[in-house]
Amino acid sequence: MTADGLLNVNNLNVAYGEAKALFDVSIEINKNEVVSIVGRNGAGKTTLLRTISGFLEPVSGSVIFNNQDITGMPAFKLAKMGIKYVPQDKMVFSDLTVRENLELSSYGTGDYNWEGVLGYFPRLKKLLNNKGGYLSGGERQMVMIARALLGKPPILLIDEPTEGLAPNIVNDLIDIFKRIREDSVLVIVEQNLTVVSGISDKVYPMKEGKIVSQITDREQIKSVSFENLL
Ligand code: ATP
Repeated sequence: MTADGLLNVNNLNVAYGEAKALFDVSIEINKNEVVSIVGRNGAGKTTLLRTISGFLEPVSGSVIFNNQDITGMPAFKLAKMGIKYVPQDKMVFSDLTVRENLELSSYGTGDYNWEGVLGYFPRLKKLLNNKGGYLSGGERQMVMIARALLGKPPILLIDEPTEGLAPNIVNDLIDIFKRIREDSVLVIVEQNLTVVSGISDKVYPMKEGKIVSQITDREQIKSVSFENLL
């Protein structure tokens, strides 16, 4: 791992029972980077994020975080070390208010200083007493990301954050990601290539459980399309 390295995935193989989902996947994530993982449905993007964040155990290969081998460590331990995963499902506790949803995360992390997090999401400040069940998809996504940001994690893995959201909310999220990157490394699974080209320093296209290439050239990232990626 280089001095800038934060997280390395080396030759990761993951299977669901007999069905292999990842084949020798290797990626490198450096400090201060925004990394996007792109690919069609079923390519293995979610499997990769879930393995890095400890929800799935690989068959072989390793995950190294800050020079420590974290392969196979459970998600709750990794979350405490600051590896936070925001799943695709936009699930918040629907009977709890936004404030209570955040309080749960504060309880878990010991971080009750909400100013920074609410600074990213001024909209949530106005919704603190609203129940999760009445929030829009975009607002739920904001609660999910805000919860994960408590405790100032060094790395945030976010699965399809803009899926199903209105274009104006997607633009808000792009701006928020540009600000969050000052504090946390972002690894984002994303199908929306406008988002990918707007925020990424590095793009890993995936196909059929494999990393197809690594794109770091700014101009190439700006002009990514599924046709020339996969
Ligand atoms: P999507 O964009 O649809 O979420 P993805 O790129 O994230 O797709 P994965 O969800 O990681 O892809 O799926 C990779 C492969 O693993 C697919 O073939 C999928 O059918 C399979 N798979 C995913 N989850 C399971 C599971 N719980 N049990 C069995 N197979 C699974």
